[in-house]
Amino acid sequence: MHQTLEMRALNVEENMTSLIMIFGATGDLAKRKLFPSLYRLYNKGKFHKFAVIGVARKSMPNDAFQASVRDSVVSALGNKENIDEFISHFYYQPHDVSDSSSYGSLKTFADQIDEHHKLEGNRIFYLAMAPEFFGPIALHLKSDGLTDVSGYKRLVIEKPFGHDLESAKELNKQIRTAFSEKEVYRIDHYLGKEMVRNIEVIRFANAIFEPLWNNRYISNIQITSSETLGVEERGRYYESSGALRDMLQNHMMQMVALLAMEPPIRLTTDEIRSEKVRVFRALRSVEGDEVNEYFVRGQYGEGEMDENSVPKYRDEPMVDKESNTETYVAGKVMIDNFRWAGVPFYIRTGKRLKVKSTKIVIQFKDIPMNLYYQTEKMLNPNLLVIHIQPEEGITLHLNAKKAGGHLDAQEVRLSFANTGIHAMNTPEGYEKLLYDCMRGDATNFTHWDEVAYSWAFVDKISAEWQKTKADFPNYVSGSKGPDAADKLLEKDGFFWWPVTDLEVDICK
Ligand code: NAD
Repeated sequence: MHQTLEMRALNVEENMTSLIMIFGATGDLAKRKLFPSLYRLYNKGKFHKFAVIGVARKSMPNDAFQASVRDSVVSALGNKENIDEFISHFYYQPHDVSDSSSYGSLKTFADQIDEHHKLEGNRIFYLAMAPEFFGPIALHLKSDGLTDVSGYKRLVIEKPFGHDLESAKELNKQIRTAFSEKEVYRIDHYLGKEMVRNIEVIRFANAIFEPLWNNRYISNIQITSSETLGVEERGRYYESSGALRDMLQNHMMQMVALLAMEPPIRLTTDEIRSEKVRVFRALRSVEGDEVNEYFVRGQYGEGEMDENSVPKYRDEPMVDKESNTETYVAGKVMIDNFRWAGVPFYIRTGKRLKVKSTKIVIQFKDIPMNLYYQTEKMLNPNLLVIHIQPEEGITLHLNAKKAGGHLDAQEVRLSFANTGIHAMNTPEGYEKLLYDCMRGDATNFTHWDEVAYSWAFVDKISAEWQKTKADFPNYVSGSKGPDAADKLLEKDGFFWWPVTDLEVDICK
């Protein structure tokens, strides 16, 4: 029987009527991402009935809150169509989440809004707040009756989900007192990105790739997520996190799982998640001395970015002058199963690097014998490049006859860029994730098992790194990262494909 992507829709209970309660509604995430995403959904006619209660500590009249929602939509999208009608669905409730006594009035208010807008007792609680509040809020939502509703109740929770396996377990325990696993939507915003979602389709909707998608034909896979920004004003948070926890444990490992998983038997949330979990179970655990054979850490020094001098990490605000926190991590991840035995997945991510780019390179093995020498060098291996951001697209690197030459081969690139054709309609990641949550589709949110396996993997690396003080800083701002990251691949006979040389051609 043919499986179609649409079949996933059969597994969701599409009910676009909901009361959305945003905790942290005056914060950066709400303003930059959540309000504009809700507006786009509204303007596309996706909601049946909805209302939003913004919750934050400071007191503010309703119309001031509505004005701030309007401002954030206009500054993000420059669009004002139907904006007055849109903001009329927004309400504000001042509430200190650490004050146990004020949840009662929040419940009364939520019940009134539910009644007024006829929201059928459907409730989404979106925690856009500092992670230390996640557990206590979930406990209060239960104990103060906010989750006693006649419709569905869902909890959307931002990263970081814990600081390590132990704290993640504790947080999960608190959340699960109020919500079942099916009701928890752990955001990994990479899973909202168009090309990350496309990995599954590229793999499972093309007859030409899946037969080659294994250790017989793939030599290695490289995942790069490089940022040009430094730590900015997030020094306090970043000091307790670092690149390993902030990027690798979640976003990078999720991309590994999507690239490595077996085809699911159906495109349902449970089937896809269980295939991803099987990848996590097959991860080769590295600990003790092995950690530094498989992983490299770095921290940026001062340097030049766009002809401006930028400080070293240790001179950033709220950062320890002797900080041992890594702003860069590169590693070799091995998946010890039948399909991937022997194929390294190289991953790297860092701040203050030369280019902003997230890309996946699938490098295929060399052909058994090369008949076509190029003028000076050997044939290039075939590459499939998935451009995640800022460009979105796919490039397939092939070898073909050089025009006019005898039988010389040269590299040709077949490119598809999302930007040209679909840009106008490509929804932003948060918009897709909010839409999925309202539809009850948790596929692109992380299941607890994925989180737990991933923390167990990462904890062993951080345990080893905490033992020793690194020789930081070890890369210059604006560079490609520490030299040790190149050596990691060189010892296996590979090299990082430079992300700037892999740009996708924009379809005009
Ligand atoms: P922020 O500091 O800008 O906003 C925090 C919000 O929480 C504010 O509305 C503040 O008023 C409210 N708040 C703080 N203490 C409170 C209390 N005791 N009672 C009630 N409200 C209180 O934070 P942010 O950048 O919006 O991030 C929120 C969450 O989203 C964090 O977990 C963060 O890691 C995650 N996140 C943010 C981004 C982003 O782009 N900002 C991206 C990914 C993940």
